[in-house]
Amino acid sequence: MAQIERPAPTASTRVVALIGDPVAHSLSPTIHNAAFAATGLDWVYVALSVPRDRGVEAVSALHALGLAGLNVTAPHKEAAADACDELTQDAAALRSVNTVVVRPDGRLFGDSTDGEGFIRALDAEGVKCAGRTVLVVGAGGAARAVTLALARSGARLIVAARRPEGANSAANLAPGGVAVTMEDVPLALREASVVVNATPIGMSGEPPPFATKSLGSEHIVVDLIYRPAETRLLVMARAAGARGIGGLGMLVHQAARSFTAWTGVEAPLDVMRESVHLP
Ligand code: NAP
Repeated sequence: MAQIERPAPTASTRVVALIGDPVAHSLSPTIHNAAFAATGLDWVYVALSVPRDRGVEAVSALHALGLAGLNVTAPHKEAAADACDELTQDAAALRSVNTVVVRPDGRLFGDSTDGEGFIRALDAEGVKCAGRTVLVVGAGGAARAVTLALARSGARLIVAARRPEGANSAANLAPGGVAVTMEDVPLALREASVVVNATPIGMSGEPPPFATKSLGSEHIVVDLIYRPAETRLLVMARAAGARGIGGLGMLVHQAARSFTAWTGVEAPLDVMRESVHLP
């Protein structure tokens, strides 16, 4: 990772924080502090470990503490939605907030930037999903955000998950969305030209959570995992002739949207990406 030079914070430095548990391994401080330094903003981004049952309290204290905004990660995304005064359409539909902006009057505005970050990352790779059938594997927070954003951008959705209720709930975010089991993935891959791994399976070098034998050159495989940058799924997909795209682009684009929401300044995407240039 690149080393970022910036002056030490002073009493007038604006502060943005990440809350979650755990937060110690987050790349967000690196990305945002690089962006603040590159844009000459006297802002600093810190990570705060907040216990599971203190999420609403932490978000509600934002204005009193004089913070400019917040990123929110597990397990506080739902609590953050509850604590905000206003939500974007995405955050309201998902009942999940990963970005909070403190308005000048102290009102808290909550957004969910993962879905838009995903679409922008694919755009940057020249991939448009309108009119395509996309298979999303997983039904957690990232899967739901991606499903909603893909549906908005005109894709047809199939959601595969190991719990039928999870698959149904995520698929219901997309008009006409179809829920299937993990065993149905090979069949779904006949219809889908884009497949998204939205499970954490692969973060520790594990094989993909679904059968990949029917992947071929007609497929684009997107793994939301960004560490490692090259998962076994991506290696197997490329070996089968498919195009593979990792999760780093989404990480950077969702961060860029948060950065602009807090500062009103265009995000320095190249600097942000370079700051987390993973091996
Ligand atoms: P999450 O809310 O915990 O959801 C994880 C999902 O994966 C759940 O639906 C879970 O199923 C499913 N799952 C776990 N193990 C599975 C298995 N063996 N087989 C099938 N499904 C399995 O996590 P998340 O926040 O959505 O994150 C998911 C992944 O996306 C993580 O790797 C995260 O790092 C990545 N992510 C990347 C970005 C980015 O910017 N690139 C942003 C957000 C997330 P159950 O519901 O049955 O437990």
